[in-house]
Amino acid sequence: MERLQRRTFVKALALAGGAAAVRPAFGSTLGGLDDGVKGASRRSRLDPTKSLTLVHSDLHNHSFISGDAEGDPYKALHHLRAAGLDVACMTEHAVSGGYGLGDHVCAKWQDGGCRFITGIDDNDWQTMAKIADEAYEPGRFVAFRGFEYSTPTVGHISVFFGKDFTDPAHEGALVTPTEVGEAYRVFPPLEPVSPYFKKLPNTAEITPFYEWLTTQPGTGLLGGGADAIASFNHPGYFGNFQDFLYHHKAAKQIFLIEGFNAITFNGGDSHDATDYFWYGRDSKMPQPFNACFNAGWKVGFSGVSDEHSGTFGQTGKGRGGLYVKHMTREGVRRAIMTRRTFGTREPGLRIDATANGVPMGSEMARPAKPLTIKLDIDRGPQWVGRKLYVQVIGPGKDDPTLHDVFPVRVPGDGKPVITFDAAPEGSWLFLRICDPKRANDPLGHAPFEDSTYGGAVAYVSPWFFRR
Ligand SMILES: [Zn+2]
Ligand SMILES: [Zn+2]
Repeated sequence: MERLQRRTFVKALALAGGAAAVRPAFGSTLGGLDDGVKGASRRSRLDPTKSLTLVHSDLHNHSFISGDAEGDPYKALHHLRAAGLDVACMTEHAVSGGYGLGDHVCAKWQDGGCRFITGIDDNDWQTMAKIADEAYEPGRFVAFRGFEYSTPTVGHISVFFGKDFTDPAHEGALVTPTEVGEAYRVFPPLEPVSPYFKKLPNTAEITPFYEWLTTQPGTGLLGGGADAIASFNHPGYFGNFQDFLYHHKAAKQIFLIEGFNAITFNGGDSHDATDYFWYGRDSKMPQPFNACFNAGWKVGFSGVSDEHSGTFGQTGKGRGGLYVKHMTREGVRRAIMTRRTFGTREPGLRIDATANGVPMGSEMARPAKPLTIKLDIDRGPQWVGRKLYVQVIGPGKDDPTLHDVFPVRVPGDGKPVITFDAAPEGSWLFLRICDPKRANDPLGHAPFEDSTYGGAVAYVSPWFFRR
């Protein structure tokens, strides 16, 4: 859809009253592959109780409600479902439109008004709840409302399940000298301002947002997000949360970090990374996962498409894996909070892992002896026997440390799961799965990125060792 046609389009949409929904069944295998190609079973072989079901999520997407994106908000969630996602969230930008401010800038988008500059306002926030409620089908497809706290320089954070929203203008994280120079990246209609501004000190802070996030909803003018959970988005792109400055109360509500996010992929701006392992390397930013876990945050990996194009659930963009007990909003919330998650860009992929029987994403005592890692990996019949490489990664100073690399073959049904030993050093350890058939990341380098290993196909959430 061309931006110029939006007004006409929106009017037509209002008459049609939304999309006639295609509602695919919730199959026993993961969807999203080409017709006739079967994905993995939803049952982990590392779940002896068989109480868990693997679902694929895409928790980060934008429609034209965001102001910088295309895409019909009434259809987006249905398109995500049709693309094989089981769990989806529209996380429209929150920039400066909250609490009545947006109304002064633009007409309502439902009336074909402009959607630049401000991000969501109160009217959008209410409408987004109705749209998500309409798409939600417990037991089969879980949709819910979210927003992306979108600052120009201190980072983007998706907030899920909360009653209230806030935005950077109201948390003092929008207008600073540095951000004037960066604003064109959030607000497409504006042109880049002099690079001079980029040299000024950055005075925006992340802490006011964390204080909002940990405040009870309905409190004062800005409300609060204490009923919500959150994710660190595209670390390094628009900021890295002040080098992952730790906040002990917010740490009880932030459970995810994006390992894969397609927003910068082929997006110009000299960035070509979908794999956030490498994002910011060219500008000497700290390696994001190492910085995040070393700061003390205990978050699991996800993958998202962060779609802005209006074509949702595209093959090859990020997806997340979650193990749910119940296919409901509450079930998804609890699954995210266990951090038994992975990030991937492969539809139909199942991964689960345990260390001495403890699931990925868990906290555990620091082991005295090497851990026995079991890795369950499956992507249906097509991948049986496929060669992959498993990297075992722990903390380092600027970069993480590559402890080990194991070549593995994806086992077929009835074959034992992949098992190896790993001796952790430091307070966390995660697995990076590489596929020699996948291209290396343009920003990647040895020892992690290597043509023998191929590009990363998945990140397995860390185990965190108590100090
Ligand atoms: Zn973002
Ligand atoms: Zn986004």
